Amino acid sequence: MIVETEAVVLKTMKYRETSRIVTLYSREFGRLVVIAKGARERNNRFGSALNLMSYVQAVIYRKENRDLQLLSQCDSIDSFNHICEDMERVATGMAVVELMDAVTHAEERNTPLFGLLVQTLGTVNTAQKNVVNALYAFEVRLLDILGFRPNFLTCFHCGIPMNEESVGRSGAGLNVSSGGILCSNCSSRGMGMDTVSAGSVRMLQHLQEASDPASVTRITMSARMRNEVAGTMRRCLESHIEGFRPLKSENMFALLH
Ligand SMILES: [Zn+2]
Repeated sequence: MIVETEAVVLKTMKYRETSRIVTLYSREFGRLVVIAKGARERNNRFGSALNLMSYVQAVIYRKENRDLQLLSQCDSIDSFNHICEDMERVATGMAVVELMDAVTHAEERNTPLFGLLVQTLGTVNTAQKNVVNALYAFEVRLLDILGFRPNFLTCFHCGIPMNEESVGRSGAGLNVSSGGILCSNCSSRGMGMDTVSAGSVRMLQHLQEASDPASVTRITMSARMRNEVAGTMRRCLESHIEGFRPLKSENMFALLH
């Protein structure tokens, strides 16, 4: 059956002499692996539409229960041209598509997730500064959509609101497997628990509540906050997503900071 869908290119690799195998995240069918025959020939019909992170309109010859589908046509909707202009945008965009590939299953449609992906790449493409914040916002909302919303608003043990006072100087205790964080009073009873500063708790709350992903890029974090926020999100993903591994794109961030 010939089907048509919007999609984003998550991964691409060479195949045989002239073709490519491309992993797409599509609006209609979720993650799809397709073969683009002849995609490495000169003047091929796909042009630059198969570049990583491209937002495309794809025509696919799709058969049920087949691992590899056939891509018959692919036209660019938005290639997010500015992403390739600097390393922070590239590293952030790569982390987003790599994460999508890691957490989604083949042919499971999730329209909100597709919308989040396109919106996030748009932010990575156009943000004026703090581009990496778009990745943290993506991770927070990804967990939300997948049904693992962590609670950064109240202490999961005693229930008091998490703020400057309840977090205190000792920091909020991090217990992502229980789905949240602990006030300084409750976390002082747990030994060896990782802590998060009040500023980072506020940022995590903001990331979760921000309706516009571009707004989070207006906030400049200290190096300490960035580490705490990145570390918290990493722990949340590891604890909820089976078989989650460190992203390859993280090596690029190590070069940046
Ligand atoms: Zn408490």
